Amino acid sequence: MTSPASPVDTADPFTAPFGSLFGDKITIARMEAGEGYRYSGSAEPMENLSLHPATHALHYGSSCFEGLKAFRQNDGSLAIFRLEDHALRLTKTVAQLYMAVPDIELVKTMIIDAAEANASHTPDAPGSLYLRPTLLGTQVNIGAAATPSNSALFYVFASPVGDYFAGGVRPLTIYVETETPRTTPQFGRAKAGANYAMALGPTLDAKATHGADQVLFASGGDVTETGAANFFLVDNDRVVTRELDDSFLHGVTRSSVLALAADLGYQVEERHISLDELRAWAGRGEAFLSGTAAIIAPVGTLRLEGDTVAFGDGQPGPNTLKLRQALTDIQIGAAPDPHNWLTPIEG
Ligand SMILES: *Cc1c(COP(=O)(O)O)cnc(C)c1O
Repeated sequence: MTSPASPVDTADPFTAPFGSLFGDKITIARMEAGEGYRYSGSAEPMENLSLHPATHALHYGSSCFEGLKAFRQNDGSLAIFRLEDHALRLTKTVAQLYMAVPDIELVKTMIIDAAEANASHTPDAPGSLYLRPTLLGTQVNIGAAATPSNSALFYVFASPVGDYFAGGVRPLTIYVETETPRTTPQFGRAKAGANYAMALGPTLDAKATHGADQVLFASGGDVTETGAANFFLVDNDRVVTRELDDSFLHGVTRSSVLALAADLGYQVEERHISLDELRAWAGRGEAFLSGTAAIIAPVGTLRLEGDTVAFGDGQPGPNTLKLRQALTDIQIGAAPDPHNWLTPIEG
């Protein structure tokens, strides 16, 4: 197997599309039927995988992932943001796919080892080293459609990324989808590829028909999240987001924003958001999306039941920018880390 060409040493993560550059090391563990996950204990060269064409994940959706970041700190050291929370969520998703769950300590070790092995590729802030733990069901049996994969491959690789908003934070146009749901009730919380496949049709439709960047899923009038980010309303006093249940992905960024909002003195409300409230909020407040890749992305315009609703003057609002700054300051060690979100690593 030859290694794919990797221009990571010469390419600029600030101009390359997000996620298109890769570090040259990967950590890999294998689980065979009836055994535990086996990790060699160190990173290997990043090479193409060799998979049997009948591999379970390629047919029956037994694949899931995480996305987290290591940041170059202001003092030059390196730290992973909210390692424990991402590792824990991966184990929950694997359990939802009914595959053997890797030990959370192994997951953390493999993430740290992958980050350290690729540390030299970490761009300075606002760039970061994006880490992608991935777990695939590898049972070779196309008859296993109604059974979980009894073997698996778990690996962690890295992608040096620049600022998601190269050229400045740009407010998004969001289409509010009130009929088609993002995913199914049993998969709402799973960080699984299958959910992205399901959200694709509505998202492409909204782009083509409504000029939207993203879709906010609100089937039956219940505002939940977009295809890959959680949704917030904010004004000078309050931060509002949907309360947790199994219908949507529990973002780690979402939880960070809520904690910081409380620290900054906002009233934090986790509850249902109706379409009427969404419409009314635009007149006096701001809205944003949260997720690891873009961190906090302002919403400028909503397309809602035939109306076009603008938040403020369509520019990123002061409260959105304040929360974004508070979060990025902690991530790069420019502000104290009162919640112990950073795990220092070598490199
Ligand atoms: C990953 C993801 C998010 C954001 O989660 P973070 O932990 O904040 O990165 C939101 N929605 C979906 C569907 C996701 O897959």
